[in-house]
Amino acid sequence: MKHVRGPLCTVDLGGQTAETAEIDELLESFLGGRALGTKLAHDRIPFDADPLGAENRLFFATGPLQHSTMSFTGRMSVTGVSPLTDGLLSSNAGGFLSRNFTGTGYSAVEITGESDELVIVHVTDEGVEFEPVPDLEEATVFETCEYIEDEHGLKSEHTVVIGPGGENQVRFASIMTSKERAFGRGGLGAVLGAKNVKAITFDGDSTHEVEIPPVQMEIHGEAAKADHPMKRSGTTTMTEFANMVEALPSYYFSELSFEGAEGIGGDAVAEKKYKKGTCSACAFACKLPTRDEESGLETEGPEYETVMAFGSNSGVDDIVDVMKSNKLCDEYGLDTISAGDTVAAYLASEDEFGNVDLIHDLVEKIAYREGVGDTLAEGIDRVHDDLGVENWTVKGMEFPAHDGRTLNGQGLAFATSNRGADHMYAEFYPYEYPLVDAEDAFDKEGLENKPPKVIELENVNAIKDSGVLCKFSRDFITPERLESLLDADYDDLLELGGEVVSLERHFNNQRGFDRSDDTVPYEIPEFERGLAEYYEERGWNDDGTVPDGRFSGDTAAPADD
Ligand code: SF4
Repeated sequence: MKHVRGPLCTVDLGGQTAETAEIDELLESFLGGRALGTKLAHDRIPFDADPLGAENRLFFATGPLQHSTMSFTGRMSVTGVSPLTDGLLSSNAGGFLSRNFTGTGYSAVEITGESDELVIVHVTDEGVEFEPVPDLEEATVFETCEYIEDEHGLKSEHTVVIGPGGENQVRFASIMTSKERAFGRGGLGAVLGAKNVKAITFDGDSTHEVEIPPVQMEIHGEAAKADHPMKRSGTTTMTEFANMVEALPSYYFSELSFEGAEGIGGDAVAEKKYKKGTCSACAFACKLPTRDEESGLETEGPEYETVMAFGSNSGVDDIVDVMKSNKLCDEYGLDTISAGDTVAAYLASEDEFGNVDLIHDLVEKIAYREGVGDTLAEGIDRVHDDLGVENWTVKGMEFPAHDGRTLNGQGLAFATSNRGADHMYAEFYPYEYPLVDAEDAFDKEGLENKPPKVIELENVNAIKDSGVLCKFSRDFITPERLESLLDADYDDLLELGGEVVSLERHFNNQRGFDRSDDTVPYEIPEFERGLAEYYEERGWNDDGTVPDGRFSGDTAAPADD
């Protein structure tokens, strides 16, 4: 099997030291990206770690495919314990960081401990330096990127940065890279904030070569030539379609379609798109740099999920208002899905849907934890009782679109996901809309034959997150091509994907997660039977736990703690 190469670099913020360790054996079994990060996190973070404490660790990792020249590989992964879900979680971002990260020569960079003062950590192929940056306290993501470029000549493609959201430990703060690309889900920006790390830069020329077979050129050529709607309007291509089949959450999940969808849909976004946008090496170029000529507002996106959270779910029908919310989240470093849904929860409690001035004010208040923003910064799971609204989360994570009340298999996938309500964990929805060939499609209703498919998709997505491959490669990466790219049997890859899911599950079981957490806040026909089938197929216990003895240890504190 191809795998990422290079030692693990461990950065200890408390002692301001760094050391490297050869982990070749681990790399041979765990590919890279999410698989590598999950294995390291499982074995090196104490099971009872406080997500916002010094003992939590973050693992940044790329995969072998970052050594290709192929489309769909401009991504990388970070893993740690989430302050939003309280479970082990990997988050994935596009942009241009992944190849600059490989230049450091490390397979993974581990961030542990806690700094006494706000710092930027500079990771290069020659070592690690710590720069105190008290003047950057509460600086926005864009201001911080400007500082790094001015002072160090490093563009934002070399950086991960947090905004005020991360510094103020908003539970859904993102880690931003390439300015506007987000490791969005699960609040790992708050973990960096708790560790007093404003930014990390990655730079160097010590790439370890990994030979990638010629099929990469075929895939790249097809991606370049494809006449695909995502090239025009990215993920927002989904909006009108999801609205039509009643899978577009609206008015804080009280409705499944939105009368103002046209004003925030794919056509509205395409009208505002003013140039091509992409990630490193990707000819598919699905990103959405948008500009409103009248106000001069520029942002990247909004993506479909942002259109849902700050559009239909907040009762907003003008794309420019959604663009503004998107831009604020990027500047402050907040996950647009969780931020938008949480704002929508507040709008529901105050009967203020569509009040765009209030929405934009709330985003700022959340980032700085001012007034009611301090409450909302905790996320819906922790504050829904105070607001008097229903708890629209799974494992504490706010929902994306692709509503499981209509797409029942996606509903099951939201429930089983170790990450909580995240559509990219299994990505079942294309099979139910359907956006796949008829013979692969499923009826929207019910769970018949769906649990094994949920498992297969969870496993293959774990491999894509480890490769690291963008999920939008769906139409281009067949099982045979994946085998060829990674020089491994497809079934063996699925088995490794399953191992990653089980490692996450095992870690979370030690923190108290079980079947009672695998739920959704609505009825799905035959749900309990589907869940039982899922556990059986996974080889887990009927209570949603991984059988004793499959993984070692009840506590996993590493030797240096
Ligand atoms: S398909 Fe889109 S998101 Fe994926 S790597 Fe290419 S440009 Fe980035």
